[in-house]
Amino acid sequence: MIGSHQIVNRIQALARELGFSQIGIAGVDLSSAEAGLMQWLAEGFHGEMHYMAAHGTRRARPAELVPGTVSVITARMDYLPRATPDDWQAVEFARLERPGEGIVSLYARGRDYHKVLRSRLAKLAERIAAEVGPFGHRAFTDSAPVLEAELASRSGQGWRGKHTLVLDREAGSMFFLGEIYVDMALPPSEPVTPHCGSCSACIDICPTRAIIAPHRLDARRCISYLTIEHAGAIPLELRSLIGNRIYGCDDCQLACPWNKFAKKSALPDFDARDGLTGRQLGELFAWTEADFLRFTEGSPIRRIGHERWLRNVAVALGNALRAGDPGARAALATRRADASALVREHVEWSLAVSAG
Ligand code: SF4
Ligand code: SF4
Repeated sequence: MIGSHQIVNRIQALARELGFSQIGIAGVDLSSAEAGLMQWLAEGFHGEMHYMAAHGTRRARPAELVPGTVSVITARMDYLPRATPDDWQAVEFARLERPGEGIVSLYARGRDYHKVLRSRLAKLAERIAAEVGPFGHRAFTDSAPVLEAELASRSGQGWRGKHTLVLDREAGSMFFLGEIYVDMALPPSEPVTPHCGSCSACIDICPTRAIIAPHRLDARRCISYLTIEHAGAIPLELRSLIGNRIYGCDDCQLACPWNKFAKKSALPDFDARDGLTGRQLGELFAWTEADFLRFTEGSPIRRIGHERWLRNVAVALGNALRAGDPGARAALATRRADASALVREHVEWSLAVSAG
């Protein structure tokens, strides 16, 4: 009979074959995280992400979400595209200095990670079952009812940085997380000690001051939230701070010194696709809905839809115009009569602020 420590070693080996970088095991008692979660929700920092609150205490109680769960296998998958240069942080910062270029967050330039991780977690569970026999399980990735970062940090995938993401001394923070809730008792892995020290680079660089204190993120101010999750008008006072970021924001991770150790993906899936990097805002703003669907097929960007995409690009064009990009005004003018009131309002804001 194979022992539980040996099972974990086998899971690690099987996971590596599937492109995962590290496996950890967490227990299911997350009660010490519950109070912090409830307070974050009570303060409204989750904005319109109502799904964060919808699952109540089940988020912090894996065995309530999936009855029978006694352990959680956590998995980490590095996502930097395979062609990432060594000085990638400088390369990405340089994009911010080119206001006419639209910036899509690094993790979203390739295939939709939800699909990649979900299918690989399912394969991992199958392969484990082939070795240890059938067991109850359910896989998650970036899933609302799961306290993903908490499970990851408890199981040794890294510590929670002051920006609230999980980071590791050997891998930085440029990785996706996934979990398999299992009904098989496995020995928990040890958490790592935090190494932020006196650094505050992520807090200092955040364009919208969304990290209001170490380990406290007001999602309502975060550009990732505003450009992806947030459905309506972007708050006026934050628009000019968004710059040319049209889908997500990497700044707090670009500034983090540990990300010089971030790893490239073992898989081709996250390689940047044509059409999503280095493109001018004017071109992106001209996309019809059919173009949007074609260029974002299989990409996580598709989830926000064409209207939200145009809203984001309109704001970036306004910021480009203010920064002196001559082509931005003509691009904005093409959608003054857009069918969407949301898009029209952002276009008018962009034209007005740049005139003022
Ligand atoms: S993603 Fe951008 S806006 Fe959000 S906390 Fe990090 S630096 Fe701030
Ligand atoms: S930038 Fe500094 S404070 Fe922020 S997560 Fe990285 S090490 Fe920690």
